[in-house]
Amino acid sequence: MKYGKVYLIGAGPGDSRLITLRAVELIKKADCVIYDGLVNPVLLRYAPSATELISVRKRTGPKPVIQQTVNQLIIEKARQGKTVVRLKGGDPGMFGRAPEEAKECADAGIAFEIIPGITAGLAAAAYCGIFLTDRDHSSQVIFVTGHEAPGKEQSNIDFDLLAKFTGSIVLYMGVGNLAEVTARLIEYGKSPDTPAAVVENATLPAQRFVQSSLDKIAAECERRQVRAPAIIIIGQAAQRDTRFDWFMSKPLFGQNIVITRDGRGNALFAEKILAQGGNPIQFDSIEIRDLTADEKVQAVLANLGCFDWIIFTSANGIRTTFQTLDKMGKDARSFAQAKVACIGAETTACLAQFGIKADFVPTVYTSDQLAEQLTRHTSVENRKIVLLRSAAAPKKLADSLTKSGAIVEDVGVYTVEPSQNEPKRLIEQIKEGKIGWLTFTSTSTVKAFFDYITPEFISTHGVKVASIGPVATEELKKLNVKVNTQADIHTIDGLLAALIGESK
Ligand code: SAH
Repeated sequence: MKYGKVYLIGAGPGDSRLITLRAVELIKKADCVIYDGLVNPVLLRYAPSATELISVRKRTGPKPVIQQTVNQLIIEKARQGKTVVRLKGGDPGMFGRAPEEAKECADAGIAFEIIPGITAGLAAAAYCGIFLTDRDHSSQVIFVTGHEAPGKEQSNIDFDLLAKFTGSIVLYMGVGNLAEVTARLIEYGKSPDTPAAVVENATLPAQRFVQSSLDKIAAECERRQVRAPAIIIIGQAAQRDTRFDWFMSKPLFGQNIVITRDGRGNALFAEKILAQGGNPIQFDSIEIRDLTADEKVQAVLANLGCFDWIIFTSANGIRTTFQTLDKMGKDARSFAQAKVACIGAETTACLAQFGIKADFVPTVYTSDQLAEQLTRHTSVENRKIVLLRSAAAPKKLADSLTKSGAIVEDVGVYTVEPSQNEPKRLIEQIKEGKIGWLTFTSTSTVKAFFDYITPEFISTHGVKVASIGPVATEELKKLNVKVNTQADIHTIDGLLAALIGESK
C-alpha cells in the first residue's frame, strides 16, 4: 500500500484565528489529526466529520501519553495510507518534539511537510503591545526554554550569555522554576532592575499580564498564581508603553458573556463579542426546526406572488423560506410584485443576501412597532399580508394587522425548540463566579434557558442580565429575573453596545 503523508503543523498560540491558511487547508483534507493539549479545540471543527481525531495531551489526564507512543501513532497511521496532520501549539519547531517526529518519518521513508505557526513568544509580545526589537534598545532576541529534558545533570541554559545579553529574552515553559531562573540570572550579573513581564494564556480571552523587575517578578507571579502556559519576557522591551496595550484594553476584555441563541445565531454573536475582547460562552438553548414540509406551508410558499406584503421578523424565517423555494426549483422571483417588510438589521442583511431589498423596515425593531409603523406608512386595508416567521411567535402582530383591516396569513415556517443541552459546566462556572453576563435575544431563548437554570440561582451568584428589547425583557420580568440592561436598538449590535456601555 502507498504510504500516506505527514504534516507537522503549527496551530498558533491559542486564539483559533491565528492559524495559517495552509494549515486550515490541510486539516480540511486530513484523514487523521493528532493534536496536543495546547491546540485550541475549535480548530478541530475544520476537520471533515469522518476524520479521526486523536488527542495526545501529555501533561494532564489519567494516562499521560509518552512521546514514543506519539511517534508510533504517526507512523502507523501514515503506513495505513492516511493523510496525517500532526497539530502542535504555536510553531512545530519551537520547543516541541517535532525533530523526533520528523526523524521517525524520515527513518520510515514517510514523506512529510512542516507548516510553521505563530509561536507563543511572538504572539504574547504582540498581544501585550511589546516590541521585542526596537531600534533604540533591542536589536537581538533570544528564545529559550526554562524547562529542560529530565535527567540532565547540567543546565543547558547559558546563564552567562543571558546575563550579558542586551536584547529581549523570551522564556518558554518557565513559570514552574521562575524563581530559580531569575535568581541565577542575577547571580550571573544581570541587573535586578531589568524589566520583566509574564503573559499567561496569551491571545485568549483569559490572557493575564504581570509586570515587575527581574528580582521581583517570580514573587509577583506566585502572588497572582500565574500558571502555565505562560511566556516570560526579560529585557528593556518588557517595559512596554501602556498605550500599546491594544488587546487587554478592549471594552469587553476579561468579561465572560453567556450567549443563548441557536448554534448559528450564537456563532455570529460570539464573533462580535470576541472582536470587543469579551469571552463568549456559547450555550445553545434553542434549536431551529424547519416546518416547511407541511402541505399548507408549501401551498403558501408556492403562491407568494399573490400577496401584497410579505413580512419577515427574523433571519431564520428568511433562510427557511428560501431553502424551501430552492427545493421547489424557485427563487426570489416568486415574490413577484409583493412588497417586503422586515424587522432588524440582521434580518434586512439576510434578505439582501437573497437578492431582495426590504421595502419597509420600522425604525424600532419590535413587532409592535412594525405593525404600527407599517399601517402609518401604507394603508393595509384589504391588503393580503403573509407573515413568514416562527410558529412560536406571539400572535399580536397578526392581530393588530387584522384589526387595521388587512387579510393576514400567519405562517410558521419554522419553530424554535429547547435544545438538548447539558448545563452542568455552565452551572459550575456560575458557582465559581466566572460569569459576568447572560444575554437574551428573544422570548424563546428566555423560556428555554430558564428551563435549565433557575432565576434564583442566577441572582444569588451575581450574574447580570442583558436583554435585546422590551419583549424579551417582559418575558424575563414574568420569571422574576432582574434585567440589568436593555439594548436601545433591538439588534445584536445594540445588545453589544449596551454591554459595552455597562462596562465603562
Ligand atoms: N511550540 C510551541 C511551544 C511549546 S512549549 C510554540 O511555538 O508556541 C509550551 C510552552 O509554550 C508553554 O509552557 C508556554 O511557555 C508557551 N505557550 C504556549 N501557548 C501559550 C499561550 N497561549 N500563552 C503563553 N504561553 C504559551
